[in-house]
Amino acid sequence: MKITENKVAEFHYTLTDEQGQPLDSSRERGPMAYLHGAGNIIPGLEKAMEGRVAGDQFSVTVPPEEAYGAGREANIQRIPLKRLGGGPKPRPGQVLTLQTNQGPVQVTVVKVGRFNVDVDANHPLAGQALTFDVEVVSVRDASEEEIRHGHAHGPGGHDHG
Ligand code: ZN
Repeated sequence: MKITENKVAEFHYTLTDEQGQPLDSSRERGPMAYLHGAGNIIPGLEKAMEGRVAGDQFSVTVPPEEAYGAGREANIQRIPLKRLGGGPKPRPGQVLTLQTNQGPVQVTVVKVGRFNVDVDANHPLAGQALTFDVEVVSVRDASEEEIRHGHAHGPGGHDHG
């Protein structure tokens, strides 16, 4: 069975950055399950999964535009330190979680001043080409419920707990 729209695929992956540093791997956790065509995984990887079958192994390098974005400078924002709610002053490079109207957003601290902190609201992996080493473990039809929810259920998929 090939991976096409409304199939659920399980796969193992190892993710490395442009310098060849491993960032993440599913090997210790068990394979990840996703609903193909639903935008559950980054666009460049989803495209590379199309048409694959169980047992396929491949490597794909995804440009930033098809991963976590190009990393535009316009996403640097200045926020008052007091909005961080006290505690120790953040350090450049630190990743903070800000509560916004759109929900929690991860930002990276760029510069810390006396009253303000400049943060980069881009995803920490924005601007990076990412390489995925993938092994397709299984492919099956999605259930009606999975299609309605827009994600895979079961091990490696969405857990409604
Ligand atoms: Zn669900």
